[in-house]
Amino acid sequence: MDDKVLRNLSYGLFVLTANDDGKDNGCICNTAIQAAGGEIPIITVAVNKANLTCEMISKTKKLTVSILSEDASFDTFKHFGFQSGRDVDKFASFTDCKKVANGTMAITKGTNGYISAYVKEEIDLGTHMLFIAMMTDGEVFSSVPSATYAYYFEHIKPKPEAVGKTPDGQTVWRCKICGYEYVGEEIPEDFVCPLCKHPASDFEKVMK
Ligand code: FE
Repeated sequence: MDDKVLRNLSYGLFVLTANDDGKDNGCICNTAIQAAGGEIPIITVAVNKANLTCEMISKTKKLTVSILSEDASFDTFKHFGFQSGRDVDKFASFTDCKKVANGTMAITKGTNGYISAYVKEEIDLGTHMLFIAMMTDGEVFSSVPSATYAYYFEHIKPKPEAVGKTPDGQTVWRCKICGYEYVGEEIPEDFVCPLCKHPASDFEKVMK
């Protein structure tokens, strides 16, 4: 089985937010889709269970997906994707957002709209939790095209410089998602990126 084919799926990019007891938090995800239409559209979102946002949504049943657009800056990805709400308050001094009807924050810069939804079911997928949620609110902010995962890699994420080896000759593996570097000849199969929580399969050996 060649699981590299999974990379040929197309994905959008989103800031997924929640509010639990007055505390706002959010993370980057690439898994929001409209799953059904009808009078009340249904969306699904899968989130890594290690993320605090996942816990918060499980508890409160409310979520908002802000849709990242092609004018999003790398800073937005770093702010929501490369640090944990367990360590920092991501909304403490963050102003490009507004409180929406379900009590969560929608991101208003580098996004072209948001969808709020109420979770009617969650399915434990092992690494991720899949939320199935009914749309309760939404707004279009701009006509800037949505950023796809491929667009992020091509145009938003800074191109890392090739470094290859450490001064004492060890091999470097770099996370393709966030740029974190792991030093060692082989990267353990169960290694998880400490910054963005992506698995060892998202690391590439950096050659000089
Ligand atoms: Fe990473």
